[in-house]
Amino acid sequence: MSQHRALVTGGSRGIGRAIAAALTRAGHEVTIVARRRETIDAALADGVARRGEALDVADGDALGALARSGGFSLLVNNAGGASTAPFGKTDTAAFRRMFALNVESAVAATQACLPGMVERGFGRVVNIASTAGLKGYSYVTAYVAAKHALVGLTRGLALEVARKGVTVNALCPGYTDTDLVAESVAGIVAKTGRSEAEARGHFAGQTPLGRLVRPEEVAEAALWLCGEGAASVTGQCIVIAGGEL
Ligand code: NAP
Repeated sequence: MSQHRALVTGGSRGIGRAIAAALTRAGHEVTIVARRRETIDAALADGVARRGEALDVADGDALGALARSGGFSLLVNNAGGASTAPFGKTDTAAFRRMFALNVESAVAATQACLPGMVERGFGRVVNIASTAGLKGYSYVTAYVAAKHALVGLTRGLALEVARKGVTVNALCPGYTDTDLVAESVAGIVAKTGRSEAEARGHFAGQTPLGRLVRPEEVAEAALWLCGEGAASVTGQCIVIAGGEL
């Protein structure tokens, strides 16, 4: 596999960290982005990436400046997150926050990286969407809407750049064993008094597989999409969810 410069947003923990580590192991020169310097430094100390920048991906100007300057041929738009509330208590400001975090960040990074990819005749954009980009879940309407938008961005852009050596795909994980699910487990324990094992079992039980997806399993798919062998795969949304969909 040729070696490339890679940018992984949200690469200090969870799915992004597993992807960054897999790309690094494959010989790519990886930069990660996250908000907190200490989690970035911990990931760098573990050899997950070559360098790391502390910034909030919702700040499109800062993310765009980094993405433009790095010569990245591999871009993994992974940073994202969910907020939980009934629709009636999810105001437009909450929708905008979800879109800024999950969609506009991917737009800013991709627009900044794309001219270089096209010039080099090679590029891979991997958007980490979710099963929530393909089906509904209650009490997370803003997240579901934002992830559907990220899937739409993937499908539309893939067609625009299909003849330029650039592929654009989405990965749609189901419930994955990361801090994001751990926070939801803690919320259920606090609100319902259920044990942690019961709360984790609730998420694991959503899939025919009967367990949470492992971050490394998402990373395997990202690594494959970034390879030259996946040149004919574009505009796809690959579900990694133990049979949930
Ligand atoms: P996670 O364990 O909470 O890790 C999130 C990573 O993103 C961390 O490195 C975090 O570092 C960084 N991050 C979060 N907000 C950021 C921001 N505003 N700016 C820059 N960095 C930010 O999350 P995860 O579960 O791995 O989720 C990663 C992606 O997968 C998300 O897009 C999520 O929607 C998607 N996903 C997750 C699941 C799941 O069940 N876990 C399922 C489907 C899809 P800092 O906190 O230091 O910023």
